[in-house]
Amino acid sequence: MTSNPIHIIGGGLAGSEAAWQIASAGIPVKLHEMRPVRGTEAHKTDGLAELVCSNSFRSDDAQANAVGLLHAEMRLADSLIMACADANQVPAGSALAVDREGFSQAVTAKLEAHPLITIEREEVAGLPPEAWNQVIIATGPLTAPNLASAIQAQTGADALAFFDAIAPIVHFDTIDMNKAWFQSRYDKVGPGGTGKDYINCPMDKDQYYAFVQALIDGGKTEFKEWEGTPYFDGCLPIEVMAERGVETPRHGPMKPMGLTNAHNPQTKAYAVVQLRQDNALGTLYNMVGFQTKLKHAEQVRIFRMIPGLENADFARLGGLHRNTYLNSPTLLDHSLQLKSRPGLRFAGQITGCEGYVESSAIGLLAGRFAAAERNGTPVSVPPYTTAFGALLGHITGGHIVSDDEPGKRSFQPMNVNFGLFPPVEAPKTAGKRLRGKDKIVAKRHAITSRAIADCREWLGLPALPVVEEVAEAAE
Ligand SMILES: Cc1cc2nc3c(=O)[nH]c(=O)nc-3n(C[C@H](O)[C@H](O)[C@H](O)COP(=O)(O)OP(=O)(O)OC[C@H]3O[C@@H](n4cnc5c(N)ncnc54)[C@H](O)[C@@H]3O)c2cc1C
Repeated sequence: MTSNPIHIIGGGLAGSEAAWQIASAGIPVKLHEMRPVRGTEAHKTDGLAELVCSNSFRSDDAQANAVGLLHAEMRLADSLIMACADANQVPAGSALAVDREGFSQAVTAKLEAHPLITIEREEVAGLPPEAWNQVIIATGPLTAPNLASAIQAQTGADALAFFDAIAPIVHFDTIDMNKAWFQSRYDKVGPGGTGKDYINCPMDKDQYYAFVQALIDGGKTEFKEWEGTPYFDGCLPIEVMAERGVETPRHGPMKPMGLTNAHNPQTKAYAVVQLRQDNALGTLYNMVGFQTKLKHAEQVRIFRMIPGLENADFARLGGLHRNTYLNSPTLLDHSLQLKSRPGLRFAGQITGCEGYVESSAIGLLAGRFAAAERNGTPVSVPPYTTAFGALLGHITGGHIVSDDEPGKRSFQPMNVNFGLFPPVEAPKTAGKRLRGKDKIVAKRHAITSRAIADCREWLGLPALPVVEEVAEAAE
């Protein structure tokens, strides 16, 4: 055993999980957490893995929900966060919700008691010294400013964002292509394009006016006092545009110019909503220019007014938040290591995932990768068919950078969702093709069964018959 510790900066969800994974591999860890010496705008305690807002880890359904599947995979990988969540569960239907204080206290106690883990209560105010040859930065969406500036100096000014401006993302197979059509504006081919790169949803004048009114009337979330109002060109929320004048969106992201409705070429649309491919698999499309502060339920209601999106299933809804995160697909390698400084890894929300569970899962992976490297064993990346691998793929490569907006940064944080997984054929029942909801449910079950089997194999666990695997994971 080596006495040279792996350093982790940030004892939130990701840092705590990474520390546990590394120590479980027999390697010493030094965990640097700045609270209570210095606080953040959202944390209230000095506990490790504090939940800053809701007490929910979302759905625990491992068969039909992507975050439930991630829970199951984390349990298989001996996750500290999941063990402490399970031990501090409070009733919440099919969701996994926890007693937030009990949960954070349990994580803190486990890490404090581990003989290989030392916890330093101090702010790391710059890039780690070279003497710390293996480091994980897991300082989260509210990374302290000095460290954030140092990361920015290392990675480049455009590589670290301080706000996310998120437009909704839709599952492709829920878009009605009898109303929408593929076409790039003016059929422009562009580098790597085909002239048919966008999905276009047409509106007539009445539909457009009703839609703009709904945007204006829709319920909005407010910025927290400390967040300020980070509107700048290029990320104005769609409802703010609507408030500036009924015709404004039509001269911005909803402009109809250069587009001909393939289903009705004689009639010019009054406005068009465009969606652009978001992942290499082609399963997800983002709504171009539709970053928004509308409440989530309002987004679903209002965006389903768009012709072609009446039955849209949203992989992610829009938002605008204070959030420190890297342009990871460009900066990090497949094992979350900074390409420009090997030995320095990132984990948690700062890598461009979103949510307690996702942040913890990326902490778990970063911890395992760092431990493997220290032990001189090959770094094994989880297959993309698993929830671990699908999420890692989004962060380190799956996202598509738009060709027609060169230089514009388009990577945005993401929750785990089924659109990130390689598609499967829906199984047939008695030789018949399934339709509608049955087809969606069958596809999800096929994805989750495949994921659990592949995750077990990746972890070196014995294979189980498919049905039992899923049942066990859902327990
Ligand atoms: C206001 C807010 C509300 C949120 N609500 C939810 C929610 O309800 N549900 C959900 O799923 N997700 C939510 N998130 C998103 C996110 O999943 C959580 O923020 C999650 O805690 C991220 O985990 P993390 O480990 O990456 O970062 P954190 O859990 O924030 O941990 C980072 C740690 O690093 C420490 N730190 C920062 N800088 C330094 C430094 N320089 N030196 C030493 N230590 C440092 C911090 O004190 C903190 O303990 C929210 C985020 C914010 C900002």
